[in-house]
Amino acid sequence: MQIPLSIPHLAGNELKYVEECIRTNFVSSVGPFVDRFERMVADFVGARYGVAAVNGTAALHVALLVAGIRPDDEVLVSDLTFVAPANAIRYANAWPVLIDSEPRYFEMDANRVVDFLDNACRWTNGELRNKTTGRRVSAIVPVHVLGHPVDIDPILEAARKYELRVIEDATESIGSRYRGRPTGTLGDLGCFSFNGNKIITTGGGGAVVTNDEALARHTKYLTTQAKDDPVEYIHNEIGYNYRLTNLLAALGVAQMEQLPSFIERKRRIAQIYGSILGGVPGITLMEEAPWASTNWWLYTIRIDEEQFGMDSRAVMRALAERGMQSRPLWRPMHMLVPFAGVPSSLGGVSERLYRESLSIPCSVGSTDEDITNVANALVHLRRSVTV
Ligand SMILES: *Cc1c(COP(=O)(O)O)cnc(C)c1O
Repeated sequence: MQIPLSIPHLAGNELKYVEECIRTNFVSSVGPFVDRFERMVADFVGARYGVAAVNGTAALHVALLVAGIRPDDEVLVSDLTFVAPANAIRYANAWPVLIDSEPRYFEMDANRVVDFLDNACRWTNGELRNKTTGRRVSAIVPVHVLGHPVDIDPILEAARKYELRVIEDATESIGSRYRGRPTGTLGDLGCFSFNGNKIITTGGGGAVVTNDEALARHTKYLTTQAKDDPVEYIHNEIGYNYRLTNLLAALGVAQMEQLPSFIERKRRIAQIYGSILGGVPGITLMEEAPWASTNWWLYTIRIDEEQFGMDSRAVMRALAERGMQSRPLWRPMHMLVPFAGVPSSLGGVSERLYRESLSIPCSVGSTDEDITNVANALVHLRRSVTV
């Protein structure tokens, strides 16, 4: 593809810092870049503590464990998401409760969360239980899909009322804000991913942030094999080797240095798409809610088949013929084999968004001309099918 969807942009001190690792022999799981990276991520979002992890999925797994999720608990999570948070809930031997999106911003529908907790659950003996399954409901995992924040205040209020933990899947949303507050710091713990397709990357990597010292310490402990004695190999819990290496943290430090300019670039890409595609019949643009400041991670449009004259998949194929990479959104969790039949609150929104959505090129390193060409290709496509 001449114009890829979203690829890494390694334009800063990446090589210099990686060289430093090799020169100093700090290439493995401890080293100054790990500490620096953890500090930088935490400071950037205004959290007290940051713990690096080998990837975002591992960050979510450990965050759920330190939040006290127990086997057979239920955890509310977005139905329209990349599969990782739903899998992480299963790694903890808990069950996802799939919550539909609101139709406008692709995000977990806060009204459905509140309705499920108020009406499908019962508060007994200081615990919330699902009336149908009888299982304890212990946490909510809002996923800030596509980088845009979930309308989280009503969710936080319900979580307080029922003493639930909130673990944010902020893997796509580093740098985004909800009513001025950075995503990742809105709940008890927040998780980031630095996979290759995210706004910044360490190749593969993740982090957990929190303001709670005990949770931070427990997270570090579990991600580093639960070592209770540095010499005698004493482990009092089942730990994980979820460490990020110094080599990858070096990449992360260099990427963090550039994050503000990357977000600026993503915003500019959204502006270009908006200026050319605004008003094209059959295309609904990505929007920023009045209460949100998004990092515009993955620019995603919706195609109305009837008005546009083609469906989203046909548009994907037509763009591919022009060397432009695009991709549908994730298949909703309730349509996947491992999550068929888990509890849910659904109204068909995620399925519609899944059918209609197409993420289009938005790499930080793309030029204005690339983006303009993609937008113009979409305009021409519509003309060609409607003449
Ligand atoms: C990328 C991503 C993750 C974590 O991904 P890793 O590849 O494990 O770093 C988790 N949740 C969502 C919604 C994601 O997009």
